[in-house]
Amino acid sequence: MTNVLRMRSRALTVSIAVLFFSGALCTGIIGCAQSDNEGGARKAGEKIRVTATVGMVGDLARNVGGEHVEVTTLMGPGVDPHLYKASEGDIARLSGADIVFYNGLLLEGKMADVLVKVARRGKPTVAVSETIDESRLREPPEFQGHYDPHIWFDVSLWAGTIPAVVAALSELDPAHAKDYEANGAAYARELAALHEEVRAAIATIPADARVVVTAHDAFGYFGVAYDIEVIGLQGVSTLAEYGIRDVQRIVDLITSRSVRAVFVESSVPRRSIEAVVAGCRAKGHEVKIGGELFSDAMGEEGTPEGTYIGMVRHNVNTIVESLR
Ligand SMILES: [Zn+2]
Repeated sequence: MTNVLRMRSRALTVSIAVLFFSGALCTGIIGCAQSDNEGGARKAGEKIRVTATVGMVGDLARNVGGEHVEVTTLMGPGVDPHLYKASEGDIARLSGADIVFYNGLLLEGKMADVLVKVARRGKPTVAVSETIDESRLREPPEFQGHYDPHIWFDVSLWAGTIPAVVAALSELDPAHAKDYEANGAAYARELAALHEEVRAAIATIPADARVVVTAHDAFGYFGVAYDIEVIGLQGVSTLAEYGIRDVQRIVDLITSRSVRAVFVESSVPRRSIEAVVAGCRAKGHEVKIGGELFSDAMGEEGTPEGTYIGMVRHNVNTIVESLR
C-alpha cells in the first residue's frame, strides 16, 4: 500500500508541478507556454507541437488533436519503453513542444526524472493514464506494489485515456475545445467497436487452447478483458531478470498443457522465447513461434500496425490464427 501511494504521488508530482508553476509564474498554461523560451511562442493558426513518449500515446494525441496538432513520438518501432533513456535529441524535442503526453504508471521508468524536470519548467506534461478508473488497474504481485502500466491491451481501458488528452488540449487551446471534444467522442466510438471485435475474435479460440505465452508479462489486461490466459517469461517490466529456472517453469507448463504456439514481441529480444522453444523440443514437445506481437511499441509508420487500432488487430489476428 505504501508503495502504491508512493507511486501515485510520484505520478501526480508532474501535474502538481504544472499547476503550481503555471499559477505562480504566469496566468495560465498558455501564458506559460508563451513565456517558455526553449520552445518559442506558438503563433495564432500554428499547430500545437505535441511530443509523446511511446507510439500508442502519440497516436492517441493525433486522433484527439486532429488537424490542430503536430505529433512527435520519441520511441519508434521496436523500442522497449521500460529500458529507454532520453537522449539529448529527446530533451530538445520535449523542451520544444507545447505539450508533452506520456503513459505514466512507471512505463517510462527511466524517463521519470526528465519528465518531472520538463514539467517543473512550466510545460504542460500529462500522464494519459490519469483519467483511468483506478479500480480497474492491475497490481501484479511481483511489480512491488505498482500498477501494471500496459493499459492499452484492454481497448476499453485505453479509451479511458481520451478524456485526459481532450482536457489538456482544450486547456492549452480553448478556441478548438469543441473539435477536441468531438474528435475524442468519435475515437471513443471507434475503440468501443474495436473492443467488441477483439472479444468476438478471441472467443473463437477453443477454451482449452486459449493461452498466450510471451517474453514479458505485458498482456495481463488483455487476459482479463478477453478471457484468455496469459503467461510471461519475464515480469511486468523487462528490467526484471529471468533465468534457467523461469525458462524451465514455462517449458513444463507448455508441455503439460500441450500449448501449440508461443509469441515473440517486437520490442523484446527473441532469444528468451527461442530458449523456451528449444527447451520444449528437448522434452519432445514441438511448439512453434506463432508470430510477432506488438506489445510495447507499434509497427512502422505508414503501415496498418503503425497505428494503435492496426496494432491491436494485428495482435489479435496473429493469436487467433496460431491458436485456433
Ligand atoms: Zn512492457
